[in-house]
Amino acid sequence: MTAKLIDGKAFAATVRAKVAAHVAQIKEENGITPGLAVVLVGEDPASQVYVRSKGKQTVEVGMNSYEYKLAADTSEADLLALIDRLNKDPEVHGILVQLPLPKHLDSDLVINSINPAKDVDGFHISNVGLLGTGQKSMVPCTPLGCLMMLRDYHGSLSGMNAVVIGRSNIVGKPMANLLLGDSCTVTIAHSRTKDLPSVVRQADIVVTAVGRPEMATGDWIKPGATVIDVGINRIERDGKTVLVGDCEFDSCEAVAGAITPVPGGVGPMTIACLLANTLTACCRAHGLREPEGLTA
Ligand code: NDP
Repeated sequence: MTAKLIDGKAFAATVRAKVAAHVAQIKEENGITPGLAVVLVGEDPASQVYVRSKGKQTVEVGMNSYEYKLAADTSEADLLALIDRLNKDPEVHGILVQLPLPKHLDSDLVINSINPAKDVDGFHISNVGLLGTGQKSMVPCTPLGCLMMLRDYHGSLSGMNAVVIGRSNIVGKPMANLLLGDSCTVTIAHSRTKDLPSVVRQADIVVTAVGRPEMATGDWIKPGATVIDVGINRIERDGKTVLVGDCEFDSCEAVAGAITPVPGGVGPMTIACLLANTLTACCRAHGLREPEGLTA
């Protein structure tokens, strides 16, 4: 069996097109333009690339993009004052503070100072609690993107066995909650899980969010299972730096029913879902109809 490739790049393009169409409609009918503010503290090169890409795609779907680049030694008080200003700004519907923050800043304090209704990363403790109790919330972008791809491929996920490898607050745990919300039977595996391959072999859906290059091999995968590879790992191969996931692609693809590649799988969905969340936040703020198929 050769797995169907779940093309995250193409899927992300359809999500952006849906967002752009809805943005155009609320601009015309309601005179409202969704706005996303992205705050970057310091000069981490990877973060700068992400922030640039977020700003570009925000503008491309017709939304307003506000970028705040602060010096690496910005004080916590100054950062909190900026967030307070953005919380109160009616033109700003989404606020994202790019992580990681420099060490002298308390990330939890900073994230929890964002108005939960504008917390488009879904990391505020209120949104975490709402998601955990099955209530309407802002959902973290990467797991939301995985859920959208799974729903698109399978339709209903009800009753499926799902194994999520990784228990981080930004991917593993929210992913597990989303799958539970769609009535999967969910197992969360992590570094202390015993006999991980046999746990994974029970899964109809496997989501790997670990950060270990090509850890899961084809013999871990139940024939026909769907594999969503969140991992992004840089390795040296044949004298070149290449990106690989947490799954060994060739051996997993030979057994799985469907699989996301790395790159071109989950990665492109993350920013697309950030735009979707910003639109959702804007619609909720103004009591407008929410976009269909772009929320959990
Ligand atoms: P974290 O480092 O926060 O979490 C990794 C998780 O993997 C932990 O729960 C850890 O377990 C578990 N783990 C580590 N080693 C093993 C092992 N040998 N067996 C089983 N589980 C193990 O990572 P993130 O969740 O932030 O990210 C995971 C991956 O996803 C990374 O490669 C990251 O780059 C990528 N990523 C991709 C995104 C995208 O847009 N596509 C967005 C975000 C992340 P324990 O808790 O026991 O230590």
